[in-house]
Amino acid sequence: GCQSQSLVAVENDAFVLGTFGQIRVYAPSEEEGLKAIAVAFKRITELENAMGPSLVGSDVYNINANAGKTSVQVSDDTLKVIKEGIKYEGLTSGAFNITLGSLIELWGIGKEWQKVPSPADIQDSKEHIEIINLQIDGNKIMIKDPEMLMDLGGIAKGYSVDEAVKVLKANGIKSGFVNLGGDVYAFGQKPDESKWAIGIQKPLVNSNGVVAKVLLENQSIVSSGNYERYFVDKGIRYHHIIDPATGYPSDSGVVSVTIISDSAIDGDALSTAVFILGHEKGMELVEELEGVDAVVITKDNTVYISSGANDMVEILDKTYQPAD
Ligand code: ADP
Ligand code: MG
Ligand code: MG
Repeated sequence: GCQSQSLVAVENDAFVLGTFGQIRVYAPSEEEGLKAIAVAFKRITELENAMGPSLVGSDVYNINANAGKTSVQVSDDTLKVIKEGIKYEGLTSGAFNITLGSLIELWGIGKEWQKVPSPADIQDSKEHIEIINLQIDGNKIMIKDPEMLMDLGGIAKGYSVDEAVKVLKANGIKSGFVNLGGDVYAFGQKPDESKWAIGIQKPLVNSNGVVAKVLLENQSIVSSGNYERYFVDKGIRYHHIIDPATGYPSDSGVVSVTIISDSAIDGDALSTAVFILGHEKGMELVEELEGVDAVVITKDNTVYISSGANDMVEILDKTYQPAD
């Protein structure tokens, strides 16, 4: 392309959606860049206010508070995310499930009450995760099972990234990236016309090393791992991605999943789902989906790369081996 105008890199950060949010843009001036970033963060906060589960008065809070009682009018954003959530439940044979809230509450990973629940409590919660009990009528949502809860924690961040990018573009920004706690979308061309290089984090606790780099252009890159939110009990690590089939943190042998796709909402749902499905079933699904690629790392440091991503991924840490 021809960049007649010289652009400046402008960046700002904020704590949003319970995580570190970072936006960088290339703008005609610092002032214009900061203004666009501020509008994007405002949009993210609006989405947080609609979908935060513990925020009194949010759509999700209201849906859960009225489970088994009545339907709740929700915003178009919430409706859209719920519909996508339902779609991914179907696509992932139930591995991704936005009505897993009772189990997520029970484990409480990252909350003050986190603990290993009794097998009986897990069994009990598992009986209240049937997505069929989530009813949609226009913008009205109702959970029919009084003990079922909704949790959009595995998908709302991705949607927020996509929406923030839309806002930046609408405010005249032609290139930049949005990063919400590792859910990233990179768009447009950098001034030097090079591609965006995003690192895949080492799937280890408290490591800031990088396993591989991925070159992107107008794509999202979203990772899920077992090394970020967890607690340890009697030497066992319990992380925050729950397998609906067992009611326990997923133990598929996968330690990190990175999804490269056209939108971060897809990447968010699929990174969580492929983590649970494991590298074989997970990759099978990824290969079936148009425009979706994945990098899956297993316990034994093997790196599985989907067919479409081979040219985009470069392994930098040689203790990790590509699968053959
Ligand atoms: P992160 O939020 O760290 O990026 P994920 O995108 O993988 O991680 O989402 C994990 C969150 O998704 C959990 O904290 C929980 O709120 C929710 N979650 C956990 N297990 C599932 C599941 N099987 N299906 C849908 N959402 C899930
Ligand atoms: Mg997710
Ligand atoms: Mg995520």
